[in-house]
Amino acid sequence: MSRPQVAIIGAGLSGLSLALALKRQKISCTVYEGRAASFNIGGAVMLSPNALKVLDALGVYSRVRAKGFNFETLEYRDVDEDLGRVREVYEFGGEQKYGYKALRIYRHVLIDELLAMLAENGISLKYSMKFKCVVKDTDKQVTWEWADGTQQSASLLIGADGIHSTVRKYLYPDLAPTFIGMAGITAAVPTSQLKLPDGYHIPVTFMTKKYGAFVIAPQEVDGSEVLIGKQKRLEDRGKEEWAAVLADKQSLVEFLQQNAEEFPEIVQNAVTHIPTDKINVWPFYIVPKLEKWTSPSRRVVMLGDAAHAIPPSAGQGINQAFEDVYMFSLLLAQAGKVAMEKALTFWQQYRQERIEQIMALNKQIDLRRMPSDEKTKDEMEDMNLEWLYLPDFKAVVDNWLADQTA
Ligand SMILES: Cc1cc2nc3c(=O)[nH]c(=O)nc-3n(C[C@H](O)[C@H](O)[C@H](O)COP(=O)(O)OP(=O)(O)OC[C@H]3O[C@@H](n4cnc5c(N)ncnc54)[C@H](O)[C@@H]3O)c2cc1C
Repeated sequence: MSRPQVAIIGAGLSGLSLALALKRQKISCTVYEGRAASFNIGGAVMLSPNALKVLDALGVYSRVRAKGFNFETLEYRDVDEDLGRVREVYEFGGEQKYGYKALRIYRHVLIDELLAMLAENGISLKYSMKFKCVVKDTDKQVTWEWADGTQQSASLLIGADGIHSTVRKYLYPDLAPTFIGMAGITAAVPTSQLKLPDGYHIPVTFMTKKYGAFVIAPQEVDGSEVLIGKQKRLEDRGKEEWAAVLADKQSLVEFLQQNAEEFPEIVQNAVTHIPTDKINVWPFYIVPKLEKWTSPSRRVVMLGDAAHAIPPSAGQGINQAFEDVYMFSLLLAQAGKVAMEKALTFWQQYRQERIEQIMALNKQIDLRRMPSDEKTKDEMEDMNLEWLYLPDFKAVVDNWLADQTA
């Protein structure tokens, strides 16, 4: 494969960051988004050092660092034992240890910055372009159809079209994401409403055996607003029914307020007044492990949530997508010098191993946050997260390339 012309389906965080990463490698691309314009689905994401290192390499980090809330740890407090004893401190970042503090940033702020960078770099982004299906996929190029029936070709088609990916249907026509029976119900309130005691650490999650967990996480640059949230068991349902759940704001407020008296005072304060405009419902869907992220010709590739949507316990969803994007761009820059079949096989294997490690971490985190009598001593031992936050993806690719030419 010589220098490809790349079509990216989806202008979410994966698609936009990929466009920038390819530009850095002097690979031309166009991003196609099905919606008519950039859309704010609301909410903030937490970025950890592994992803921030990628965003730094793409020139994004320096532009967004001061636009979000920088922090290092999350506290887990046990409400059943001693009304709020700190059970665990989980590192989400660390300037000294991992090179970066964690960053909690509104998704739309990050998207807007990426959009500005695409414009500055002259990268083409076209809205109202809804991908429908692949019609021809050969050694030379891939041709696909848009929802309006027209066709187009490129040397590479990238599915960055999220958890309900249509590009994925080409490789897995029958696969539907699995709902894990749980949705996050979240809202945003002013931090002052919590009446936080001096020195009280947030982000914090309060855990109870009977009433589940209650999350409080600062957002806005100065932490002046907090996300509050709980998880709710729900049945799976279609898109319209999920929209109806979100539309019923009163029930969502009542759910957040339910059993508040069983939690410490700051939770009770948090739910006294809940504005309905920032309420969100986040159904937890996952994509099971997929054997292939590319078509046999290697001209159709999936990444981000399209390839591996994972449960939220370790907060690694988008962080892992940024890793995909960066390594993919470094390898694609070698087109013409190394066989792309080998490069993409290496890419998927490396990335899949990371995803499996995250899945194991998710499990470990879920276990640790269960009531203490359900845990063994081993499970409470310190968690070493260097494998997650410290890898140098450029060095990983360079080492692999060196092995190919040795
Ligand atoms: C409420 C919430 C909170 C989250 N918090 C965190 C967090 O703190 N940390 C974290 O790491 N992860 C978090 N995640 C997960 C994270 O948001 C996802 O992993 C991430 O958004 C995946 O990005 P993506 O670009 O792959 O997909 P998406 O963000 O889904 O983007 C896909 C894009 O493709 C477009 N598209 C879809 N179909 C088509 C089509 N047929 N044709 C053209 N365009 C199409 C869509 O319109 C969309 O713009 C959170 C998710 C949610 C919902």
